[in-house]
Amino acid sequence: MSVTDMDITMLKGVGPNKATQLQRELGIYTVGDLLMHFPYRYLDRTHVSTVDQLYDDSNLVVLRGHISRPMPQTGRVPRLSANFTDATGTIELVWFKGLRWIQDSIKVGHEYLVMGKPSSFNGQISIIHPDLELLTSEQGSHTPLPFIPVYNSTEKLKNAGLSSKGLARLMENAFRLLEGHIEEVLPADIVATHHLPSRYDAMRMIHFPRNHQEIAVSTQRMKFEELFLLHLDYQYAKYERQRKSNGLVFGTIGEHFNRFYAEKLPFELTNAQKRVVKEIRNDMRSGKQMNRLLQGDVGSGKTLVALLCMLIALDNGCQSCLMAPTEILATQHYNTLCRMTEGLDIHIELLTGSVKAAAKKIIKARLESGDIDLLVGTHALIEDSVQFHNLGFVVIDEQHRFGVAQRSKLWTKSQVPPHILVMTATPIPRTLAMTLYGDLECSVIDELPPGRKPIQTTHATEAQRLAVYGFLRKQIALGRQVYVVYPLIQESEKMDLVDLMNGYDAISNYFPLPQYQISIVHGKMPPDVKAYEMDRFKRGEAQIMVSTTVIEVGVDVPNATVMMVENAERFGLSQLHQLRGRVGRGGSQSYCILMTKDHLSATAKERIQTMVDSNDGFRIAEADLKLRGPGDIQGLQQSGILDLRLADIVDDEPLVRSTREAVQALLDTDPTLALPEHYCLLLYLRNKRNGINWSRIS
Ligand code: ADP
Ligand code: MG
Repeated sequence: MSVTDMDITMLKGVGPNKATQLQRELGIYTVGDLLMHFPYRYLDRTHVSTVDQLYDDSNLVVLRGHISRPMPQTGRVPRLSANFTDATGTIELVWFKGLRWIQDSIKVGHEYLVMGKPSSFNGQISIIHPDLELLTSEQGSHTPLPFIPVYNSTEKLKNAGLSSKGLARLMENAFRLLEGHIEEVLPADIVATHHLPSRYDAMRMIHFPRNHQEIAVSTQRMKFEELFLLHLDYQYAKYERQRKSNGLVFGTIGEHFNRFYAEKLPFELTNAQKRVVKEIRNDMRSGKQMNRLLQGDVGSGKTLVALLCMLIALDNGCQSCLMAPTEILATQHYNTLCRMTEGLDIHIELLTGSVKAAAKKIIKARLESGDIDLLVGTHALIEDSVQFHNLGFVVIDEQHRFGVAQRSKLWTKSQVPPHILVMTATPIPRTLAMTLYGDLECSVIDELPPGRKPIQTTHATEAQRLAVYGFLRKQIALGRQVYVVYPLIQESEKMDLVDLMNGYDAISNYFPLPQYQISIVHGKMPPDVKAYEMDRFKRGEAQIMVSTTVIEVGVDVPNATVMMVENAERFGLSQLHQLRGRVGRGGSQSYCILMTKDHLSATAKERIQTMVDSNDGFRIAEADLKLRGPGDIQGLQQSGILDLRLADIVDDEPLVRSTREAVQALLDTDPTLALPEHYCLLLYLRNKRNGINWSRIS
């Protein structure tokens, strides 16, 4: 065990209460964990603001001046207040906690450094719970560092005495304890070639910088480490798999594939589809297990590619399964596959959470006996009780809602791991793909089937609502159908549902019965009601479907030509692009109308304009990433990429690339990390994979 693994309670100043809060609030268990809690900014002591420069909501500031005697204030909540004065004016300092201590400790008549975030109340600027530092004359003995690190803290931590300042004190204790004992994790030659400071120096500099240069150098080093290890994790997995896992060899193209191709394929494959099928086929006969990502815009024909590959698996005596993220989408895939393979004597079944127990039992038995060729389903597929006869090929649709752990669970479903194809309809920006799917080979369908008319997208605001409804009427008069979609965002689900119902009422007024029929669908409906409403729309009995984003995936109504999105500014661009992909499936010109409130922020405007200007999913994904950052990209929450502490996948793109190249070069020369100088990396990976710390899983 290394020194950094030492329990946090070993640290001076950390009792049981603080330890508990550190664990709960920040996931800090060891001294090493603590050191990885980096400042998110620094206050420059030499950069002192004056009271007359302050405004409401200005950032953290440092002030220098005198504090009056704190006085208790009357009011609902007990509080203390004092005046802070410098040469330019006076503001109020306020405390709600630790009143006794504050009252006793403030030294009137002495000069203080006061740090905090100004806020305004009744037109008066104040700082609540400022950090204070007494400037004493005898300070000559130890000059304070020019920068004050600012750490993220939480309400609970603050109550336990661990404000940013308290955390800084712990950092000092940690350094005293560890002096010289922070191990390097990067190989020496990497550190040297990339001109990085040692890990110890970087840690020291990032917590206690002496100048701007030290902040820059140490931050860069820790970002490098973070991205390097992230790539290593993915890339090593890839190398390891390529080395170890023998794949099923699908050598033949047989009757199923050939008959389908000759008799059932209603159109010519696009060149991109042909190329991708070839890539997959090459993988499948290589003797190595395939792990491939298939990217392609909505409507580019991924499902067909998947089916062709399933037929190859079948021709080689293997079962396939297709896993979709939602029941609607699974059902849709099931119907599509059944329709496409009609008359070919291929046994397809659907397994989802809502299949009744008795039926499920039969499906499972048939699956195990090998009677089912293709199984379509939701995550019900990865339940332990689902056993295949000989699973050879797995298709996962919309992967990043599943996550790597679930993916790997599928591998355990057969002796030799099946070939895996991950399909994603949300195009992923290159930097993200490079990291997130670093362990996968990548195929791209970059061409839409011929004859598609690009969807016309417009931006409309409330002022134009009536005109928009008029347009919908015209489309409906032409026999077309329209979608009206409302955002449904988890945190405000109740409000959103109210929005949806109000919208439904409003639309019902403009589009009255009996001339117009309106379906309504949302996630809180019982499945049978939902299915009934969807069917009404599919059969063309309802001209309008008002819904939340449940239709985002999996509704295929070629007669629908208008997608109207309400509160469009609240959706992610990729999500809007997905929604838009619901229309334009038939031969008629289709439209997407993005409704927003009248006044939008500059960013919101730019995002909507991106949608109006472009039909290209990749361009849109890039724009989304740049404008909103990765945190808002759907499904990315579970990916781990957002756990990055320092590096930013967008801003640090050059570093994302260079670290990836460094990892690749290293693994090319030493794929098993056998060299002594790479032992540190092997150790890191082992700890990461095997050393699950159960105490951290609550
Ligand atoms: P994706 O899953 O990539 O969004 P789909 O596989 O659902 O796309 O295909 C969208 C539509 O295009 C389907 O109706 C499909 O039958 C059709 N399609 C697929 N490939 C072709 C092709 N090569 N030529 C014409 N139409 C195609
Ligand atoms: Mg599809």
